Amino acid sequence: AMVTRFAPSPTGFLTIGGIYATLIPERLAHQSSGVFYLRIEDTDRKREVEGSIGDMLQVLSYCGIYPDEGPTANGEEAGDYGPYKQTERVGLYHVFIKDLIRRGLAYPCFCDADELQQIRDKQQAAKLNPGYYGEWAIHRHLTPEQVEAELATGKPFVIRLKSPGSPDRRIKYKDLIKGEIEMPENEQDIVIMKSDGIPTYHFAHAVDDRLMGTTHVIRGDEWLASIPIHLQLFDLLGFRRLEYGHLAPLMKMDGASKRKFSKRKDPDAAAIYYQQKGYPELSITEYLMTLINSNYEEWRMSQPEAPNTEFMIDMNKMNVSGALFDINKLVDISKDVIARFTADEVFEQAVEWAATYDAELEAMLRANREYATAIFHIGRAVEKPRKDIAKWSDVKELYAYFFDDSFNKSIAAGYNAMPVSIPSELAKQIVSEYAQTLDLQDDRDSWFGKVKAVGEKLGFAKDAKTYKKNPEQYPGHVGDVAMILRVALTGRTMTPDLYDMMLVMGEVRVRNRLDRFVG
Ligand code: GLU
Repeated sequence: AMVTRFAPSPTGFLTIGGIYATLIPERLAHQSSGVFYLRIEDTDRKREVEGSIGDMLQVLSYCGIYPDEGPTANGEEAGDYGPYKQTERVGLYHVFIKDLIRRGLAYPCFCDADELQQIRDKQQAAKLNPGYYGEWAIHRHLTPEQVEAELATGKPFVIRLKSPGSPDRRIKYKDLIKGEIEMPENEQDIVIMKSDGIPTYHFAHAVDDRLMGTTHVIRGDEWLASIPIHLQLFDLLGFRRLEYGHLAPLMKMDGASKRKFSKRKDPDAAAIYYQQKGYPELSITEYLMTLINSNYEEWRMSQPEAPNTEFMIDMNKMNVSGALFDINKLVDISKDVIARFTADEVFEQAVEWAATYDAELEAMLRANREYATAIFHIGRAVEKPRKDIAKWSDVKELYAYFFDDSFNKSIAAGYNAMPVSIPSELAKQIVSEYAQTLDLQDDRDSWFGKVKAVGEKLGFAKDAKTYKKNPEQYPGHVGDVAMILRVALTGRTMTPDLYDMMLVMGEVRVRNRLDRFVG
């Protein structure tokens, strides 16, 4: 069983790339009957953003990610390895820091900013690596008496690790995603506790990953450069090393070229953007799974109904160079996903989304539950379902004309969608002739027979083929007749099946709309 974690700093919002990187450890843990937990890395108090933990939990659950342990939405914590917020664990870190000091592996450093600058200046003049290390680490060599004396003055101090590393030696480890990695050892005496007594991220995360039983760390590859420090910390603390997988960031298209998402500039970088647009949770996880493992789509084809939690993530089939997040693919997948929903599911989810994001849509749907469900049922629960809704914010655009208020508004300025090639007097004649034969008891065949008959009576060709042979002989063909009826009933040319639509609209509404068109 794997124990994995997501360890965000509460310094802002979660990105879609962050969700992608978090879905992996979540699935790895759960498919191995392990534990996935949430830890809040809040040691950098200055950068903390108020409310971000709650926002993160909300977005995680929107994306189908539920930690087994960690802070929860009601402000409490789940799990026996807490507290799960680093600032509440300071006492624990001190135990390990004291132990390192006792073993001569860490020491207090009283250097102030000026002294550190002087060291850097000298290093620069000598063309050496900057930093606090080796002979440059002047407080490394203070005697116990000197330390006592400095402490007695009340000077602020940090605790540094006494690094035994040398850049002449290399460390090797096998990354779960990137494979064999070789890097120079860490030689810097990094700060492990700041002058306010709070440990740094590097130190706190090592202690936590150990005490919380983490077995596998999956995280962004911006942390790869820290691996020499992390492995060294684990070794010096006497902890067994963990497995690491470092993931390249998600890319997006910008014109014809790929680039990283910009957390600051791209609104679609934020995970909540997709919730605001109304993509179902399932669409997000389905699409991210295709980015996580190259064999996912094949699996999905062979298992069209299985929940995607049943797919076993394979670390060897990960995208090493940075997966491309293509919004058009998300849209396609989401249309597939929603096409499989029942009409009731569409209704429920659309209303739930609208309750937060579109009060007008919410009211429209709630006031007409039965009608709305019948509308959503068109083209659903059939072998090749209609794929039109990609996100709940599409619903209004796609279906509002079924509702009389919206329909009336949309045609107030005329039936703009009417194909221009049909003169409007002729179109009105068609509609008025058809209205006389309208009978919603007709089955599909006799209904279509009537549409055809009305067309032929007014000189339209009986089918497209006949029309094409002698186009100058006819104003159009039966398809144009259907299109005129469609525009009369909906004000648009792109709609679900005309016959199905008429049945759902019902006799009264259909008649009203036909009459209105004739004027
Ligand atoms: N707190 C770090 C971050 O915000 C986590 C790094 C890690 O997963 O070890 O990215």
